[in-house]
Amino acid sequence: MQKITDDVTKNNSQIDDRLFAGYVMRVVAIILATLIVAPTLVVAEQNWPGEPVDNHIFMSYLALTQELKDWSDDNPDIVELSSIGKSYLGRELWMLVLSDWSNETKINGDAKEIIYIDGGHHGNEYLGTALAWLTAKWYINEWNAGNQEAVDVLQNTELHILIMLNPDGNDADTRHNLNLTTAANPLVSEPVPTGIDLNRNYDHFWDDCSPSDPFAPGSGPFSEPETRANADYMNSHVQDADLYITMHTGVWIMLYPWGKWPDQPSDWELFHGIREDVNGNISDIPIQNANQGLYPNCGTSRDYGYGVMGFPTFTFETDDDQFLLFTFEDVNERLGEELDVMRYLINNIYYWRARLVLESLSIDDDEVTFTVNNMGRASTRNATLQYIDNDKVLWESENFTSNASSSKSLTSNGFEFDGGEWRLSYQKRVVHSSQWVNETIDIAKLKSYTTSSSLTNLIWAMQVGAIPLSALAFAFWWSREEKPLEILDNSILEAELLD
Ligand SMILES: [Zn+2]
Repeated sequence: MQKITDDVTKNNSQIDDRLFAGYVMRVVAIILATLIVAPTLVVAEQNWPGEPVDNHIFMSYLALTQELKDWSDDNPDIVELSSIGKSYLGRELWMLVLSDWSNETKINGDAKEIIYIDGGHHGNEYLGTALAWLTAKWYINEWNAGNQEAVDVLQNTELHILIMLNPDGNDADTRHNLNLTTAANPLVSEPVPTGIDLNRNYDHFWDDCSPSDPFAPGSGPFSEPETRANADYMNSHVQDADLYITMHTGVWIMLYPWGKWPDQPSDWELFHGIREDVNGNISDIPIQNANQGLYPNCGTSRDYGYGVMGFPTFTFETDDDQFLLFTFEDVNERLGEELDVMRYLINNIYYWRARLVLESLSIDDDEVTFTVNNMGRASTRNATLQYIDNDKVLWESENFTSNASSSKSLTSNGFEFDGGEWRLSYQKRVVHSSQWVNETIDIAKLKSYTTSSSLTNLIWAMQVGAIPLSALAFAFWWSREEKPLEILDNSILEAELLD
């Protein structure tokens, strides 16, 4: 039988009017414990900034705040720290963004990949919070050590990490936030104000699982300031993200959508592919649909992240045991396997979407034949090749589906335009909510570009610099012969661009 402790109500009994008394006792216990073990608590820069409470190593909001400020002060080249809002009791919700800030883009000029990570929805799940902390810490340390993997990631990626979403619950050692004014669940007969379960408060089939009791989803979707701040950030800062990891603990499992339904998600092949990779090469951690791997759960940040934002999303349930030792190295050792999985997910961020690359294009009168290669590990439907003038679509191919990691050729007719440019328009993943992208095609990078009849196309290609004037006559002759114009080796051509 599976040990299921994360999302059950193991702490409901403590979240009542004895909460404050319990909190005072814990504070006393922290002070006593700190005095007793003080000689062994080496306050070095690398320590997990935690203190022992009930066999947990408890990281207070203040300790985290101090450490984040130190990280930011010491590493302005890669760390940006900001507050994205306040908890119910007014504590700041700290957002850490890690990237190589000497460049706004990747070295090749493309936009950096975006990854979103949060921890600490549940205030008593310290190992979940610890894994978010450790992930940030690992990239900061390894960047400073010149580790090539960390350098590559930070040059090409922005890591947005919110380590502690529920600082009030964290400091009170309770699952919920400390909004005790609202009936936790308006649908149960005798609502008791126990604080709200933030990971039931998102606007995705809110409170729509049965039974809803004993969970405490709040008075309505996004009734809590913590979840509102988190969703606002997703919608305003990381809407381009291709990975969202939300960190919990209590069970050792990774959960992908859905929690609401037992069905596999539309992008099942992406999730299953990741499972194969992780289980084959990194860790035996079980990876399942959340509804089946845990139990039905609604209004979670995971289902919101996938169902509303369209991110590939995992809930990382870090461990089935909260106990942990004192230093960064020990946290690292304890959570090393989980960190390895995180590094794999981060290193391969490029692949967690459909990523269409046009390989070849040939135009024969009004007929366009093209080959498109999906480099990503997600499929896409409703993709089109378009010919546009500014944002006006002059022509588009028939809709096509492109399966993950595969290539296909298509022909569409009705093309009789010039003066425009080509782009691919498609959704990054199959789920309806996934982002649409319009990606302009650099015709000079095509493996093959052929046109059999249209002089105007050649002139257009010359005008945009894809074909130098010196090659025009040759290309025109070649196109009349209906032979492919190989412009793959564009190193010479680029040097001869007209402008
Ligand atoms: Zn949890």
